[in-house]
Amino acid sequence: MILIIMQSAAMKKLSVGLSLAAAFALATTGCSSAPANPSASGSSTTKVTVLGEVYPLAWVASQVGGDRVEVGQIVPAGAGAHGYELSPAQTDQIGKTGLVIYVESLAVSVDEAVAEAKPAATIDLATVIPTRPAVAHDDAAEEAEHEATEEGHEASGIDAHMWLNPATMPKLVTAVSTQLGTLDPTGKATYEANAAALNDKFTKLDAEYKAGLASCKEKTVIITHPAFGYVTDQYGLTQVGISGFDEDTEPSPARLAEVSKVAKGAGSSTIFFANTSSPKIAEVLAGELKLKTQVLSTLVAAKDGQDYLSLSAANLVALRDGLGCS
Ligand SMILES: [Zn+2]
Repeated sequence: MILIIMQSAAMKKLSVGLSLAAAFALATTGCSSAPANPSASGSSTTKVTVLGEVYPLAWVASQVGGDRVEVGQIVPAGAGAHGYELSPAQTDQIGKTGLVIYVESLAVSVDEAVAEAKPAATIDLATVIPTRPAVAHDDAAEEAEHEATEEGHEASGIDAHMWLNPATMPKLVTAVSTQLGTLDPTGKATYEANAAALNDKFTKLDAEYKAGLASCKEKTVIITHPAFGYVTDQYGLTQVGISGFDEDTEPSPARLAEVSKVAKGAGSSTIFFANTSSPKIAEVLAGELKLKTQVLSTLVAAKDGQDYLSLSAANLVALRDGLGCS
């Protein structure tokens, strides 16, 4: 997925065989010549441009904005969201965008570009949804000391994965509806109606999570990439992260021994791994303890035929299976 960083001239040559994700990127880049502020043009065909830092943020914008918006995703599918580095073209793009939706501390280069390039409007998820602290254990603390300038994530102390909790997503939906209505007052009623419909879906999903995780044999989610703290907090579970947020750093033997102890103490049957990290660590640990593994999606990308709702539903099935919920 390098399409998003290509120049728009090159983009225009591409017209066939695009995956949904590629078309998503194309939609944004292809309309980069359109004014970011729709009120600057009398044309009813001018759309509000929106960039979401990761998939769920872009998805919410497209659901609320419908036909009135052109939505793109900053971190391409398959790229690591933590510490993602923007290309110069992407930085330029951010300055021309109507609304940028991001999470402060997820990628420092995005935070900086938003501050410098000044898009017409911004939504920082960390100011809309109450934040929880970044997961801290020995490895993460060590990483934070050594890599604070590079990573930002641990250094800021915020857990940036709030999009995984369906219960609080309506706060983002409402913020997006309000911002779009300000950028494009003609569409205000449409945005509000779309937001209400989307919030109904989040309310339903939240109810499914609540009911689905209400009576489980196990309450501890042991996972490679600790992205699910908002979910475990919301539904009365506890998350234990094997590694820190840096997907490439392997846990120390001491950390693995510590997690093994937790798994035994909690009577765990399953070691979870995030789809964005290698399953290797989970497999080794599960092998040693004779447990099974389960994958959870961090929702930072969706393939053809998937969306936020289907990926979240799959996560609930995996959690219920891994925790022995009835
Ligand atoms: Zn993450």
